[in-house]
Amino acid sequence: MSSSPLELSIIVPNFNEPACLEELAGRIHATLASISLHAYEIIFVDDGSQDHSREILRTLSAKDSRVKALFLSRNFGHQFAITAGFDHARGEAVLVMDADLQDPPEIIPDFVKKWGEGFDIVYGVRLSRAGESWFKRSSSAAFYRMLRALTRTNIPLDSGDFKLLSRQAMNMLNQLRERSRFMRGLVSWIGYPQAPVHYHRAARFTGETRYPVRKMVKLALDAILAFSDLPLRIATWVGFTGIVVCLAYLSYILAVKIMLGTPVKGWTSLVAITVFIGSVQLTVLGVMGQYVERIYEEIKGRPLYIVMEREGFGDGPMDPPLPGASTASRLHP
Ligand code: UDP
Ligand code: MG
Repeated sequence: MSSSPLELSIIVPNFNEPACLEELAGRIHATLASISLHAYEIIFVDDGSQDHSREILRTLSAKDSRVKALFLSRNFGHQFAITAGFDHARGEAVLVMDADLQDPPEIIPDFVKKWGEGFDIVYGVRLSRAGESWFKRSSSAAFYRMLRALTRTNIPLDSGDFKLLSRQAMNMLNQLRERSRFMRGLVSWIGYPQAPVHYHRAARFTGETRYPVRKMVKLALDAILAFSDLPLRIATWVGFTGIVVCLAYLSYILAVKIMLGTPVKGWTSLVAITVFIGSVQLTVLGVMGQYVERIYEEIKGRPLYIVMEREGFGDGPMDPPLPGASTASRLHP
C-alpha cells in the first residue's frame, strides 16, 4: 500500500490533443472542488505528440502543482500510455479518462462514490455515443460481442478505458506486464468487486479520432489473441473436418471404382480440392503466426514504454521501476 496522502490520481493519455488539455484540466479541477476532493493529481501522459501539446502541459503543470506530465519518447499507443500513467500514479484510487472530453469529467463523483461503497473497480458503460460514425459504433458493438463469445474472461459490453481502480487492484494490475495490452481485458481478468457507472458519451471536444482503422484492428487482434485460444482450437477443428470430408470422398471414389470399374473423372474437383486445402493450410499457419509473433515480442523483453521527461513529479526519488517500465526518465529528472 502507498503511504501517499493522495486520494485520487487521474490519468489522461493524450496524443496530439492540444486544444482539449486546458479545458479538461479546468473541468476536472471544478468537478473535484465541487465534492471537496482536494488531494488529487492529474497525470497527463503525452504519447509522443508532434504538436505544441508539450508546451501546454508544461504551462498547466507550472500553474498547478497537482498537474503532472509524462512525455513518452514516441507514440507507443493508448494502452501503453495508460500503463505509464498507472506506474507513476500515487493515489489511493486511480481513474483513467480520455483527453478528448468524450468521457465527461462531471461524472467522476459517481466513480468516487462507488469506490467509497467498497468496489475496487468501477467501469464506465456507454449508454450512447454522440458524434461517432456509424462504422465506429457498429464495429465497436460487434467487437465487444464477439470478444465476449470468444473469451472466458468476463469483459463488460460497451465499456472503454474510463475506469477507476482502487490501490489494491492497481498494484495487482501493475504486475501484469504482458505486451499484448488490452487494458479492459486485464482489468476484468484481475477480478475484485466491480461495479458499472452508466453514462452518455459526449462528442469529441475537437479534432478527429486518434484511433485510425489500423490501430483499431491491432487492438482487436491483441484483445482476441491475448484472451482466447479459440482461434487455435478452430484451426484444429477445421483440420479434423477436412480429414473427415477427405475420407468420405475417398470412400466414394473407391466405391465407384470397385462397383463400376471406372475411376471418377475429375480434373475440376481435383483443382478445387487442392486450392481449398492450400488456403485452409495457409490460414491456419497465419493464425499460428499471430500467436508466434506475440511470443517473439514477449521474449524480447523490451520496456513497455520509454519516458523521456517528467514534469511536476519533483526531484525526489521515485519508487523502483516495475519490470517492463523504462528507467530512461530517471536520467532526466
Ligand atoms: N491516444 C493515445 N495514443 C494513441 C491514440 C490515442 O494516447 O496512439 C489517446 C487520445 O489522445 C485520447 C484517447 O487515447 O485521449 C482515446 O483516443 P480517441 O479519442 O482517438 O479514441 P476514440 O474515442 O475515437 O475511440
Ligand atoms: Mg475519443
